Amino acid sequence: MIRFLPLGGADEIGANCFYLNIFGTGLLLDCGTHPRKKGKESLPRFDLIKNEPLDFAIISHAHQDHIGALPFLVQEFPHVIIYSTYQTKEIAELTLHNAANILAAETLPDGDLRNYSHQEIDLLVRSMHDIEYNSPFEICGLRHSLNEKIKITLADAGHILGAASIIIEIAGQKIIYTGDINLSNQMIMQSADISLFENATILLTETTYGSTDSLKLGSWTSEAKRFAKHANKVLHNGGSVLIPVFALGKTQEILALIYNLMERKILTESFFYTGGIGREISNIYDRNRYLVNRGNKELVLKDIPQTNVNDVEDLNLFKKNPGIVLASSGMMLKGTTSYRLMEYWIKQSTFGIFSVGYMDSDTPGYKIMNSKKGESLILSEGMEPQKILCDVDRFYFPSHSKREDLLAIAKSSGASKIILLHGESESQNWIGQHLLNTKKSLQLYSAELGKQINLL
Ligand SMILES: [Zn+2]
Ligand SMILES: [Zn+2]
Repeated sequence: MIRFLPLGGADEIGANCFYLNIFGTGLLLDCGTHPRKKGKESLPRFDLIKNEPLDFAIISHAHQDHIGALPFLVQEFPHVIIYSTYQTKEIAELTLHNAANILAAETLPDGDLRNYSHQEIDLLVRSMHDIEYNSPFEICGLRHSLNEKIKITLADAGHILGAASIIIEIAGQKIIYTGDINLSNQMIMQSADISLFENATILLTETTYGSTDSLKLGSWTSEAKRFAKHANKVLHNGGSVLIPVFALGKTQEILALIYNLMERKILTESFFYTGGIGREISNIYDRNRYLVNRGNKELVLKDIPQTNVNDVEDLNLFKKNPGIVLASSGMMLKGTTSYRLMEYWIKQSTFGIFSVGYMDSDTPGYKIMNSKKGESLILSEGMEPQKILCDVDRFYFPSHSKREDLLAIAKSSGASKIILLHGESESQNWIGQHLLNTKKSLQLYSAELGKQINLL
């Protein structure tokens, strides 16, 4: 008996959390928070499994939408045994403490979430089991009904440092959960390793870029050239470039990319501004550079000269010392550094805001990236319209697979049952239709919050 139940992140990029009951063993794949929601609303629906066994949680990677709800999970299910890669555990220690600080500063209605303490996070992180890629281990829940244990293997998913696909084997079944997966090389992270995906029976696949035309995504090399051309224009006019980035993954990749462009004299040498937790995560990338498959192992991000953006008190410094600023959050959410800088940036006609990653609709970042110079925008509720005077440009440096690669992953897995998740409905539709075109006999499902699928 194998049952699948999404507790979050089914048909969106939200609080990713997927429950599997495998012959009586309860297993959660990921346990994230919704990036745009607050308090209880941001958590997976743990109530849906209150009458189910839960023994283990396996975390695919340390982005908040995959790991952020872990401290709340252990509040409710303190006995759960947690697994991740060593790198995910190391990043989690940093980001979960950081998330606790952010949460402590928020005012939530009475009876909403009980925040967790730094001691609780220390305990949680210490209790996490760290697993190497391609090193199978066995698990078995308290109510497991088979003599055979469940074999788990983590494979490098190529998305960010420590990211893993999860391979689950039992009773002749092979279930693959892709996690966030990337089949292309980035500057640092290299293509996912899907060599263990063969002969799968069930595939749970992400669909982030299902509705995005891959021609638009281009290649990192061609986008890097276009980026340099546009950034040079701003810098030559005495302006600075703001790049809103996720602290984990995109910050390190874009830093490596820009440094490389400057070294090759393709991009004008200028000041670098970085800050916040992104810098600390870069140190973890540096420390692990010989332990994982990555490009340019000799590059030490810490050695790239950078000014701490949070030390800049007078924002006019960005006129005096023009440069490139990498600041989180990636979607310029209100209250974050990139939002604060953006409010100054949009008033400067010689400046530029360049986006390099995914932005959810309904975020300030998305609104700006879809505007034109001179247009007036209401950036957040209750605010006066603001005129966008700076340049706005969009570049694609994806850390997720393009849609043809997702189809190729599904095909090479050979799975006859496929569940589409981690993507909006248009994305799932495109992938679903193309999968059915190549294999009519496929049992295809779209994950839906709270809707159980009996897989065996
Ligand atoms: Zn991710
Ligand atoms: Zn994700």
